[in-house]
Amino acid sequence: MRVQFWGTRGSIAKPGPSTARYGGNTSCIEVRSARGTLVIIDCGTGGHSLGQKLKSDRKLTSAERKGLRGHILISHTHWDHIQGIPFFDPLFAPGNEWDIYGPNGLSRSFREILAAQMQHNYFPVTLDQCGAKIRYHELVEGSFDIDDIKVSTRYLNHPALTLGYRLESDGVTVVYACDHEPHSRLAATGDGEITGQDLRHAEFVSRADLLIHDAQYSAEEYPAKIGWGHSSAEYAVNLGRFAQVKRIALTHHDPLRDDDAIDRLVASIRGKLRQSSSSLEVFAAFEGQIVDVAADPAKGSTRRVSEFPAEIPVEPALARQPVLLGVADTRTSAALCEAVRAEGICVKTFSNIAEARKLIAKDRPSLVILEHDPPRINGMDMCRAIRRQANGHEHRLPSVLVSGQEDCESGDAAAVTDWLIKPFTGAYARTKIRAWVLRTACRWIPSGAPANEGRQLASPLVTRNQDLEPDNRFDRITGPQHERRRSPKRVAKSDKSALLWMYSRKIAPFESPTFSSRLGEIIARAASAPEKG
Ligand SMILES: [Zn+2]
Ligand SMILES: [Zn+2]
Repeated sequence: MRVQFWGTRGSIAKPGPSTARYGGNTSCIEVRSARGTLVIIDCGTGGHSLGQKLKSDRKLTSAERKGLRGHILISHTHWDHIQGIPFFDPLFAPGNEWDIYGPNGLSRSFREILAAQMQHNYFPVTLDQCGAKIRYHELVEGSFDIDDIKVSTRYLNHPALTLGYRLESDGVTVVYACDHEPHSRLAATGDGEITGQDLRHAEFVSRADLLIHDAQYSAEEYPAKIGWGHSSAEYAVNLGRFAQVKRIALTHHDPLRDDDAIDRLVASIRGKLRQSSSSLEVFAAFEGQIVDVAADPAKGSTRRVSEFPAEIPVEPALARQPVLLGVADTRTSAALCEAVRAEGICVKTFSNIAEARKLIAKDRPSLVILEHDPPRINGMDMCRAIRRQANGHEHRLPSVLVSGQEDCESGDAAAVTDWLIKPFTGAYARTKIRAWVLRTACRWIPSGAPANEGRQLASPLVTRNQDLEPDNRFDRITGPQHERRRSPKRVAKSDKSALLWMYSRKIAPFESPTFSSRLGEIIARAASAPEKG
Protein backbone atom coordinates (compact mmCIF):
# COMPACT_ATOMS: atom_id res chain seq x y z
CA MET A 1 0.00 0.00 0.00
CA ARG A 2 1.10 3.55 -0.65
CA VAL A 3 0.18 6.22 1.89
CA GLN A 4 0.35 9.96 1.25
CA PHE A 5 -0.25 12.60 3.90
CA TRP A 6 -2.28 15.63 2.73
CA GLY A 7 -3.02 17.09 6.18
CA THR A 8 -1.18 16.44 9.45
CA ARG A 9 -2.37 19.30 11.68
CA GLY A 10 -4.87 18.77 14.51
CA SER A 11 -7.86 20.87 15.60
CA ILE A 12 -7.46 23.85 13.25
CA ALA A 13 -5.55 24.63 10.06
CA LYS A 14 -2.35 26.51 10.89
CA PRO A 15 -0.61 27.74 7.76
CA GLY A 16 2.42 29.99 8.05
CA PRO A 17 6.20 30.05 8.18
CA SER A 18 6.38 28.23 11.55
CA THR A 19 4.52 25.18 10.17
CA ALA A 20 5.85 25.18 6.60
CA ARG A 21 7.80 21.90 6.88
CA TYR A 22 5.24 19.66 8.64
CA GLY A 23 2.25 21.46 7.14
CA GLY A 24 -0.70 23.49 8.31
CA ASN A 25 -3.63 21.58 6.79
CA THR A 26 -5.87 19.39 8.91
CA SER A 27 -6.19 15.58 8.71
CA CYS A 28 -6.36 13.91 5.31
CA ILE A 29 -4.61 10.79 4.11
CA GLU A 30 -4.64 9.05 0.73
CA VAL A 31 -4.15 5.29 0.64
CA ARG A 32 -3.73 3.26 -2.55
CA SER A 33 -3.54 -0.49 -2.82
CA ALA A 34 -1.23 -2.05 -5.41
CA ARG A 35 -4.31 -2.66 -7.57
CA GLY A 36 -5.17 1.04 -7.42
CA THR A 37 -8.11 1.03 -4.98
CA LEU A 38 -8.39 4.58 -3.65
CA VAL A 39 -9.23 5.15 0.02
CA ILE A 40 -9.08 8.56 1.67
CA ILE A 41 -9.04 8.69 5.46
CA ASP A 42 -10.58 11.89 6.84
CA CYS A 43 -11.13 14.97 4.75
CA GLY A 44 -9.86 17.98 6.69
CA THR A 45 -8.52 21.02 4.85
CA GLY A 46 -5.80 18.79 3.32
CA GLY A 47 -8.60 17.30 1.19
CA HIS A 48 -8.59 20.39 -1.03
CA SER A 49 -5.09 19.74 -2.45
CA LEU A 50 -5.79 16.03 -2.76
CA GLY A 51 -8.95 16.81 -4.73
CA GLN A 52 -6.99 19.08 -7.08
CA LYS A 53 -4.37 16.36 -7.61
CA LEU A 54 -7.00 13.72 -8.39
CA LYS A 55 -8.67 16.08 -10.84
CA SER A 56 -5.50 16.71 -12.79
CA ASP A 57 -3.67 13.42 -12.21
CA ARG A 58 -1.82 12.78 -15.46
CA LYS A 59 -1.49 9.08 -14.67
CA LEU A 60 -5.26 8.64 -15.02
CA THR A 61 -6.68 8.00 -18.45
CA SER A 62 -9.27 10.51 -19.67
CA ALA A 63 -11.98 7.85 -19.10
CA GLU A 64 -10.87 7.45 -15.48
CA ARG A 65 -10.84 11.21 -15.02
CA LYS A 66 -14.46 11.30 -16.18
CA GLY A 67 -15.49 8.56 -13.82
CA LEU A 68 -13.31 8.63 -10.72
CA ARG A 69 -14.17 6.00 -8.11
CA GLY A 70 -13.09 6.33 -4.49
CA HIS A 71 -13.93 5.77 -0.86
CA ILE A 72 -13.72 8.23 2.04
CA LEU A 73 -13.46 6.92 5.60
CA ILE A 74 -14.37 9.60 8.14
CA SER A 75 -13.16 8.97 11.70
CA HIS A 76 -15.61 11.48 13.21
CA THR A 77 -17.30 14.72 12.26
CA HIS A 78 -15.26 17.30 14.20
CA TRP A 79 -14.39 20.18 11.87
CA ASP A 80 -10.73 19.29 11.38
CA HIS A 81 -11.77 15.94 9.84
CA ILE A 82 -14.54 17.09 7.49
CA GLN A 83 -13.88 20.72 6.53
CA GLY A 84 -12.29 19.68 3.25
CA ILE A 85 -15.46 17.93 2.02
CA PRO A 86 -17.15 21.08 0.61
CA PHE A 87 -13.87 21.85 -1.20
CA PHE A 88 -13.10 18.33 -2.44
CA ASP A 89 -13.51 18.82 -6.16
CA PRO A 90 -14.09 15.16 -7.20
CA LEU A 91 -17.38 15.15 -5.23
CA PHE A 92 -18.78 17.79 -7.56
CA ALA A 93 -17.91 16.20 -10.91
CA PRO A 94 -20.76 14.26 -12.60
CA GLY A 95 -19.71 10.75 -13.50
CA ASN A 96 -17.64 10.27 -10.35
CA GLU A 97 -18.75 7.74 -7.75
CA TRP A 98 -17.88 8.02 -4.07
CA ASP A 99 -18.66 5.95 -1.01
CA ILE A 100 -18.40 7.89 2.26
CA TYR A 101 -18.21 5.96 5.53
CA GLY A 102 -18.48 7.20 9.11
CA PRO A 103 -19.65 6.25 12.58
CA ASN A 104 -23.31 5.48 13.11
CA GLY A 105 -25.03 8.52 14.65
CA LEU A 106 -27.90 7.71 17.00
CA SER A 107 -29.88 10.93 17.11
CA ARG A 108 -29.01 12.04 13.54
CA SER A 109 -27.72 10.09 10.57
CA PHE A 110 -24.09 10.37 9.47
CA ARG A 111 -25.22 11.99 6.20
CA GLU A 112 -27.31 14.59 8.05
CA ILE A 113 -24.35 15.51 10.26
CA LEU A 114 -22.10 15.91 7.20
CA ALA A 115 -24.77 17.93 5.41
CA ALA A 116 -25.14 20.31 8.37
CA GLN A 117 -21.77 21.97 7.69
CA MET A 118 -23.06 22.78 4.18
CA GLN A 119 -26.32 24.44 5.22
CA HIS A 120 -26.85 27.79 3.51
CA ASN A 121 -25.74 29.81 6.55
CA TYR A 122 -22.30 28.22 6.30
CA PHE A 123 -21.78 27.32 2.65
CA PRO A 124 -23.38 28.21 -0.71
CA VAL A 125 -23.73 24.64 -2.04
CA THR A 126 -25.56 21.85 -0.24
CA LEU A 127 -24.34 18.27 0.00
CA ASP A 128 -27.24 17.15 -2.19
CA GLN A 129 -26.00 19.44 -4.98
CA CYS A 130 -22.73 17.53 -5.39
CA GLY A 131 -22.60 16.23 -8.97
CA ALA A 132 -20.99 12.90 -8.19
CA LYS A 133 -22.98 9.86 -7.17
CA ILE A 134 -22.44 9.50 -3.41
CA ARG A 135 -23.40 6.58 -1.21
CA TYR A 136 -23.28 6.95 2.57
CA HIS A 137 -22.41 4.11 4.93
CA GLU A 138 -22.88 4.11 8.71
CA LEU A 139 -20.46 1.91 10.58
CA VAL A 140 -20.20 0.21 13.95
CA GLU A 141 -17.24 -1.80 15.26
CA GLY A 142 -16.53 -4.61 12.83
CA SER A 143 -15.14 -5.13 9.35
CA PHE A 144 -15.96 -4.82 5.66
CA ASP A 145 -14.18 -4.93 2.32
CA ILE A 146 -13.38 -2.13 -0.10
CA ASP A 147 -12.38 -4.05 -3.22
CA ASP A 148 -8.98 -5.57 -2.31
CA ILE A 149 -8.67 -3.72 1.02
CA LYS A 150 -10.01 -5.30 4.20
CA VAL A 151 -11.14 -2.62 6.65
CA SER A 152 -11.70 -3.09 10.39
CA THR A 153 -13.15 -0.42 12.67
CA ARG A 154 -12.87 0.24 16.41
CA TYR A 155 -14.22 3.01 18.63
CA LEU A 156 -11.56 5.36 19.92
CA ASN A 157 -11.68 7.40 23.16
CA HIS A 158 -12.72 10.93 22.18
CA PRO A 159 -15.53 13.35 23.08
CA ALA A 160 -17.34 12.49 19.81
CA LEU A 161 -18.00 8.97 18.56
CA THR A 162 -14.82 8.24 16.61
CA LEU A 163 -13.68 5.23 14.62
CA GLY A 164 -10.13 4.04 14.11
CA TYR A 165 -9.51 2.27 10.80
CA ARG A 166 -7.31 -0.77 10.20
CA LEU A 167 -6.60 -1.40 6.50
CA GLU A 168 -5.13 -4.68 5.28
CA SER A 169 -4.08 -5.28 1.70
CA ASP A 170 -1.04 -6.38 -0.32
CA GLY A 171 0.15 -8.39 2.72
CA VAL A 172 0.54 -5.28 4.91
CA THR A 173 -1.45 -3.46 7.59
CA VAL A 174 -1.92 0.28 8.00
CA VAL A 175 -3.81 1.58 11.04
CA TYR A 176 -5.18 5.10 11.46
CA ALA A 177 -6.06 6.14 15.04
CA CYS A 178 -6.97 9.86 15.34
CA ASP A 179 -8.43 11.34 17.55
CA HIS A 180 -7.79 9.22 20.60
CA GLU A 181 -7.07 9.79 24.28
CA PRO A 182 -5.58 6.97 26.36
CA HIS A 183 -8.16 5.44 28.69
CA SER A 184 -5.66 5.39 31.55
CA ARG A 185 -4.38 8.79 32.64
CA LEU A 186 -1.17 7.22 33.87
CA ALA A 187 -0.58 5.49 30.52
CA ALA A 188 -1.16 8.84 28.82
CA THR A 189 2.10 10.13 30.21
CA GLY A 190 3.93 7.28 28.47
CA ASP A 191 5.03 5.73 31.79
CA GLY A 192 2.05 3.64 32.90
CA GLU A 193 1.39 0.14 31.65
CA ILE A 194 -1.09 -0.64 28.88
CA THR A 195 -4.06 -2.10 30.79
CA GLY A 196 -7.86 -2.21 30.76
CA GLN A 197 -9.49 -0.59 27.72
CA ASP A 198 -6.05 0.49 26.45
CA LEU A 199 -5.43 -3.22 25.83
CA ARG A 200 -8.37 -3.22 23.39
CA HIS A 201 -6.73 -0.33 21.57
CA ALA A 202 -3.37 -2.18 21.53
CA GLU A 203 -5.07 -5.23 20.06
CA PHE A 204 -6.58 -3.09 17.32
CA VAL A 205 -3.22 -1.63 16.23
CA SER A 206 -1.24 -4.81 16.87
CA ARG A 207 1.57 -5.72 14.46
CA ALA A 208 0.72 -2.89 12.07
CA ASP A 209 3.37 -2.18 9.46
CA LEU A 210 2.46 1.49 9.74
CA LEU A 211 0.51 3.02 12.64
CA ILE A 212 -0.67 6.58 12.00
CA HIS A 213 -1.48 7.83 15.51
CA ASP A 214 -2.74 10.93 17.26
CA ALA A 215 0.21 12.63 18.99
CA GLN A 216 -1.19 16.07 19.62
CA TYR A 217 0.53 16.60 22.97
CA SER A 218 3.77 15.79 24.74
CA ALA A 219 3.65 13.87 28.02
CA GLU A 220 4.56 17.10 29.80
CA GLU A 221 1.60 18.96 28.26
CA TYR A 222 -0.96 16.19 28.76
CA PRO A 223 -1.99 16.86 32.42
CA ALA A 224 -3.38 20.26 31.37
CA LYS A 225 -5.34 18.66 28.49
CA ILE A 226 -7.08 15.75 30.21
CA GLY A 227 -10.44 15.03 28.64
CA TRP A 228 -9.66 16.85 25.38
CA GLY A 229 -9.52 13.53 23.56
CA HIS A 230 -5.93 13.30 22.37
CA SER A 231 -2.77 11.31 22.97
CA SER A 232 0.72 12.29 23.94
CA ALA A 233 3.45 11.28 21.50
CA GLU A 234 5.05 9.26 24.32
CA TYR A 235 1.85 7.21 24.80
CA ALA A 236 1.58 6.52 21.03
CA VAL A 237 5.16 5.23 20.99
CA ASN A 238 4.70 3.17 24.17
CA LEU A 239 1.56 1.65 22.65
CA GLY A 240 3.38 0.91 19.38
CA ARG A 241 6.16 -0.92 21.21
CA PHE A 242 3.68 -2.89 23.29
CA ALA A 243 1.64 -3.84 20.21
CA GLN A 244 4.74 -4.79 18.15
CA VAL A 245 4.12 -2.15 15.53
CA LYS A 246 6.84 -1.69 12.92
CA ARG A 247 6.62 2.05 12.17
CA ILE A 248 4.72 4.93 13.75
CA ALA A 249 3.77 8.15 12.00
CA LEU A 250 2.98 10.75 14.67
CA THR A 251 0.33 13.14 13.41
CA HIS A 252 -2.54 15.49 14.36
CA HIS A 253 0.20 17.94 15.42
CA ASP A 254 -0.97 20.59 17.87
CA PRO A 255 -1.55 23.97 16.17
CA LEU A 256 0.75 25.55 18.77
CA ARG A 257 3.66 23.20 17.97
CA ASP A 258 5.94 24.70 15.34
CA ASP A 259 8.27 22.72 13.08
CA ASP A 260 11.30 23.03 15.36
CA ALA A 261 9.27 21.84 18.36
CA ILE A 262 8.14 18.76 16.39
CA ASP A 263 11.79 18.04 15.52
CA ARG A 264 12.74 18.26 19.21
CA LEU A 265 9.88 15.96 20.26
CA VAL A 266 10.84 13.31 17.69
CA ALA A 267 14.55 13.57 18.59
CA SER A 268 13.76 13.05 22.27
CA ILE A 269 11.60 9.99 21.52
CA ARG A 270 14.21 8.47 19.19
CA GLY A 271 16.89 8.99 21.88
CA LYS A 272 14.82 7.03 24.42
CA LEU A 273 14.15 4.24 21.88
CA ARG A 274 17.90 3.96 21.14
CA GLN A 275 18.67 3.68 24.86
CA SER A 276 16.26 0.78 25.15
CA SER A 277 17.51 -0.83 21.88
CA SER A 278 14.04 -0.72 20.37
CA SER A 279 13.70 -1.36 16.64
CA LEU A 280 10.50 0.71 16.41
CA GLU A 281 10.79 3.39 13.73
CA VAL A 282 9.18 6.73 14.68
CA PHE A 283 8.67 9.82 12.52
CA ALA A 284 6.45 12.87 12.49
CA ALA A 285 4.24 12.89 9.40
CA PHE A 286 4.55 15.92 7.13
CA GLU A 287 2.25 17.26 4.44
CA GLY A 288 3.02 15.72 1.05
CA GLN A 289 5.00 12.82 2.53
CA ILE A 290 4.68 9.50 0.71
CA VAL A 291 5.25 6.24 2.59
CA ASP A 292 5.40 2.96 0.71
CA VAL A 293 4.39 0.13 3.01
CA ALA A 294 5.88 -3.06 1.62
CA ALA A 295 5.22 -6.61 2.77
CA ASP A 296 7.75 -8.28 5.01
CA PRO A 297 8.13 -11.92 3.86
CA ALA A 298 9.16 -12.92 7.41
CA LYS A 299 5.98 -11.57 8.96
CA GLY A 300 3.43 -14.07 7.63
CA SER A 301 -0.11 -13.32 6.66
CA THR A 302 -2.13 -10.44 8.13
CA ARG A 303 -5.22 -11.13 10.20
CA ARG A 304 -8.36 -9.12 10.76
CA VAL A 305 -9.15 -8.06 14.30
CA SER A 306 -12.90 -8.43 13.76
CA GLU A 307 -15.23 -10.32 11.46
CA PHE A 308 -18.49 -8.69 12.58
CA PRO A 309 -20.13 -6.83 9.65
CA ALA A 310 -19.46 -3.12 10.34
CA GLU A 311 -22.30 -1.89 8.11
CA ILE A 312 -25.09 -3.67 9.96
CA PRO A 313 -28.14 -1.50 10.92
CA VAL A 314 -28.51 -1.34 14.71
CA GLU A 315 -31.34 1.11 15.42
CA PRO A 316 -34.24 -1.39 15.85
CA ALA A 317 -32.38 -3.13 18.67
CA LEU A 318 -31.53 0.17 20.40
CA ALA A 319 -34.88 1.87 20.86
CA ARG A 320 -36.23 -0.70 23.30
CA GLN A 321 -33.22 -1.02 25.62
CA PRO A 322 -32.82 1.42 28.54
CA VAL A 323 -29.58 2.43 30.22
CA LEU A 324 -29.62 1.82 34.00
CA LEU A 325 -28.13 4.44 36.25
CA GLY A 326 -27.14 3.84 39.87
CA VAL A 327 -25.46 7.11 40.88
CA ALA A 328 -26.34 8.72 44.25
CA ASP A 329 -24.52 12.00 43.67
CA THR A 330 -27.35 14.17 42.34
CA ARG A 331 -25.26 16.42 40.08
CA THR A 332 -23.46 13.51 38.45
CA SER A 333 -26.70 11.57 38.11
CA ALA A 334 -28.44 14.53 36.44
CA ALA A 335 -25.53 15.04 34.02
CA LEU A 336 -25.56 11.35 33.06
CA CYS A 337 -29.35 11.27 32.65
CA GLU A 338 -29.06 14.21 30.28
CA ALA A 339 -26.24 12.50 28.35
CA VAL A 340 -28.27 9.29 27.89
CA ARG A 341 -31.43 11.14 26.84
CA ALA A 342 -29.47 13.28 24.40
CA GLU A 343 -28.67 10.03 22.57
CA GLY A 344 -32.40 9.28 22.27
CA ILE A 345 -32.16 6.40 24.75
CA CYS A 346 -34.40 5.80 27.74
CA VAL A 347 -32.77 5.96 31.21
CA LYS A 348 -33.94 4.24 34.40
CA THR A 349 -32.43 4.90 37.82
CA PHE A 350 -32.03 2.60 40.81
CA SER A 351 -30.70 3.08 44.33
CA ASN A 352 -29.93 -0.45 45.51
CA ILE A 353 -29.05 -3.87 44.15
CA ALA A 354 -32.59 -5.27 44.56
CA GLU A 355 -33.98 -2.52 42.33
CA ALA A 356 -31.15 -3.02 39.85
CA ARG A 357 -31.84 -6.75 39.62
CA LYS A 358 -35.54 -6.19 39.04
CA LEU A 359 -34.87 -3.69 36.25
CA ILE A 360 -32.29 -5.95 34.65
CA ALA A 361 -34.67 -8.91 34.63
CA LYS A 362 -37.59 -6.84 33.33
CA ASP A 363 -36.01 -4.46 30.82
CA ARG A 364 -32.83 -6.21 29.62
CA PRO A 365 -30.87 -2.93 29.57
CA SER A 366 -27.99 -2.29 27.19
CA LEU A 367 -25.70 -0.70 29.80
CA VAL A 368 -25.47 -0.16 33.56
CA ILE A 369 -23.64 2.84 35.02
CA LEU A 370 -22.56 2.52 38.66
CA GLU A 371 -21.02 4.96 41.10
CA HIS A 372 -17.74 4.02 42.77
CA ASP A 373 -16.66 6.30 45.62
CA PRO A 374 -15.04 4.18 48.32
CA PRO A 375 -15.51 3.83 51.24
CA ARG A 376 -18.92 5.57 50.87
CA ILE A 377 -20.10 3.61 47.82
CA ASN A 378 -18.44 0.49 46.45
CA GLY A 379 -19.43 0.17 42.79
CA MET A 380 -17.33 -2.95 42.40
CA ASP A 381 -19.42 -4.80 44.98
CA MET A 382 -22.54 -3.73 43.09
CA CYS A 383 -20.99 -4.94 39.85
CA ARG A 384 -20.15 -8.31 41.41
CA ALA A 385 -23.69 -8.62 42.78
CA ILE A 386 -25.15 -8.03 39.32
CA ARG A 387 -22.85 -10.62 37.78
CA ARG A 388 -23.70 -13.17 40.50
CA GLN A 389 -27.29 -13.39 39.31
CA ALA A 390 -27.62 -16.76 37.63
CA ASN A 391 -28.70 -15.42 34.26
CA GLY A 392 -26.60 -15.11 31.12
CA HIS A 393 -27.62 -11.53 30.38
CA GLU A 394 -26.05 -10.10 33.53
CA HIS A 395 -22.72 -11.68 32.63
CA ARG A 396 -22.68 -9.83 29.34
CA LEU A 397 -24.21 -6.51 30.44
CA PRO A 398 -21.52 -3.80 30.12
CA SER A 399 -20.91 -1.96 33.41
CA VAL A 400 -19.26 1.44 33.53
CA LEU A 401 -17.98 2.73 36.88
CA VAL A 402 -18.11 6.47 37.52
CA SER A 403 -15.26 7.34 39.84
CA GLY A 404 -12.69 9.95 40.79
CA GLN A 405 -9.92 7.55 39.84
CA GLU A 406 -9.52 4.27 38.02
CA ASP A 407 -8.42 1.00 39.60
CA CYS A 408 -8.04 -1.31 36.63
CA GLU A 409 -6.69 -4.28 38.56
CA SER A 410 -9.55 -4.47 41.09
CA GLY A 411 -11.97 -3.46 38.33
CA ASP A 412 -10.91 -6.42 36.17
CA ALA A 413 -11.38 -8.76 39.13
CA ALA A 414 -14.91 -7.39 39.66
CA ALA A 415 -15.66 -7.68 35.90
CA VAL A 416 -15.99 -3.92 35.48
CA THR A 417 -16.20 -3.19 31.75
CA ASP A 418 -15.05 0.42 31.61
CA TRP A 419 -14.47 3.57 33.67
CA LEU A 420 -15.78 7.11 33.40
CA ILE A 421 -13.34 9.22 35.39
CA LYS A 422 -14.53 12.46 37.03
CA PRO A 423 -14.46 15.26 36.14
CA PHE A 424 -15.85 14.50 32.69
CA THR A 425 -17.59 16.63 30.10
CA GLY A 426 -21.11 15.94 28.85
CA ALA A 427 -19.65 15.17 25.41
CA TYR A 428 -17.29 12.55 26.83
CA ALA A 429 -20.03 10.84 28.85
CA ARG A 430 -22.39 10.88 25.88
CA THR A 431 -19.81 9.32 23.58
CA LYS A 432 -18.86 6.58 26.02
CA ILE A 433 -22.54 5.74 26.57
CA ARG A 434 -23.22 5.68 22.84
CA ALA A 435 -20.26 3.38 22.14
CA TRP A 436 -21.31 0.82 24.78
CA VAL A 437 -24.97 0.91 23.79
CA LEU A 438 -23.99 0.30 20.16
CA ARG A 439 -21.68 -2.56 21.15
CA THR A 440 -24.53 -4.21 23.08
CA ALA A 441 -26.92 -3.71 20.16
CA CYS A 442 -24.42 -5.39 17.82
CA ARG A 443 -24.19 -8.41 20.11
CA TRP A 444 -27.95 -8.80 19.91
CA ILE A 445 -28.25 -8.78 16.15
CA PRO A 446 -29.51 -12.15 14.94
CA SER A 447 -28.09 -14.24 12.16
CA GLY A 448 -31.36 -15.93 11.12
CA ALA A 449 -32.99 -19.14 12.29
CA PRO A 450 -30.83 -22.26 12.23
CA ALA A 451 -33.36 -24.17 10.13
CA ASN A 452 -30.69 -26.46 8.72
CA GLU A 453 -26.97 -26.78 8.91
CA GLY A 454 -26.42 -25.86 5.28
CA ARG A 455 -28.05 -22.50 5.78
CA GLN A 456 -26.20 -21.99 9.04
CA LEU A 457 -22.87 -22.65 7.42
CA ALA A 458 -23.73 -20.23 4.64
CA SER A 459 -24.70 -17.45 7.10
CA PRO A 460 -22.18 -14.63 6.80
CA LEU A 461 -22.57 -13.80 10.49
CA VAL A 462 -21.73 -17.34 11.51
CA THR A 463 -18.77 -17.76 9.20
CA ARG A 464 -17.49 -14.29 10.11
CA ASN A 465 -17.55 -15.12 13.81
CA GLN A 466 -15.07 -17.96 13.62
CA ASP A 467 -12.24 -15.88 15.08
CA LEU A 468 -14.16 -14.64 18.13
CA GLU A 469 -13.86 -16.10 21.60
CA PRO A 470 -16.36 -18.98 21.97
CA ASP A 471 -18.62 -16.99 24.33
CA ASN A 472 -18.68 -14.00 22.01
CA ARG A 473 -19.48 -16.18 19.03
CA PHE A 474 -22.29 -17.74 20.98
CA ASP A 475 -23.70 -14.33 21.95
CA ARG A 476 -23.58 -13.10 18.39
CA ILE A 477 -25.31 -16.14 16.99
CA THR A 478 -28.00 -16.74 19.61
CA GLY A 479 -28.45 -13.33 21.27
CA PRO A 480 -31.62 -12.32 23.14
CA GLN A 481 -33.17 -10.56 20.15
CA HIS A 482 -32.88 -13.78 18.19
CA GLU A 483 -35.18 -15.44 20.72
CA ARG A 484 -37.69 -12.64 21.08
CA ARG A 485 -38.64 -12.69 17.43
CA ARG A 486 -40.12 -16.15 17.65
CA SER A 487 -43.14 -17.75 19.29
CA PRO A 488 -42.36 -19.90 22.37
CA LYS A 489 -42.76 -23.03 20.25
CA ARG A 490 -40.33 -21.79 17.61
CA VAL A 491 -37.93 -20.54 20.27
CA ALA A 492 -37.60 -23.95 21.83
CA LYS A 493 -37.11 -25.66 18.50
CA SER A 494 -34.63 -23.19 16.99
CA ASP A 495 -32.67 -22.82 20.22
CA LYS A 496 -32.25 -26.54 20.58
CA SER A 497 -31.04 -26.96 17.04
CA ALA A 498 -28.74 -23.94 17.40
CA LEU A 499 -27.18 -25.39 20.54
CA LEU A 500 -26.71 -28.81 18.99
CA TRP A 501 -25.33 -27.35 15.81
CA MET A 502 -22.85 -25.15 17.68
CA TYR A 503 -21.76 -27.98 19.91
CA SER A 504 -21.17 -30.26 16.96
CA ARG A 505 -19.19 -27.49 15.22
CA LYS A 506 -17.14 -26.81 18.38
CA ILE A 507 -18.21 -23.15 18.21
CA ALA A 508 -19.36 -22.99 21.82
CA PRO A 509 -17.88 -25.48 24.26
CA PHE A 510 -20.25 -26.74 26.93
CA GLU A 511 -17.97 -25.60 29.74
CA SER A 512 -18.25 -21.90 28.85
CA PRO A 513 -20.41 -19.94 31.38
CA THR A 514 -22.62 -18.40 28.72
CA PHE A 515 -23.36 -21.73 27.10
CA SER A 516 -24.37 -23.41 30.36
CA SER A 517 -26.51 -20.50 31.56
CA ARG A 518 -28.24 -20.24 28.17
CA LEU A 519 -28.83 -23.97 28.18
CA GLY A 520 -30.54 -23.62 31.59
CA GLU A 521 -32.79 -20.86 30.25
CA ILE A 522 -33.74 -22.87 27.19
CA ILE A 523 -34.56 -25.99 29.19
CA ALA A 524 -36.74 -23.89 31.53
CA ARG A 525 -38.54 -22.29 28.60
CA ALA A 526 -39.00 -25.58 26.79
CA ALA A 527 -40.45 -27.11 29.98
CA SER A 528 -42.96 -24.27 30.39
CA ALA A 529 -44.01 -24.25 26.71
CA PRO A 530 -43.93 -27.85 25.47
CA GLU A 531 -44.22 -28.44 21.74
CA LYS A 532 -47.36 -30.15 20.48
CA GLY A 533 -47.32 -32.91 17.94
ZN1 LIG B 1 -9.03 16.14 15.23
ZN1 LIG C 1 -11.90 15.34 17.23
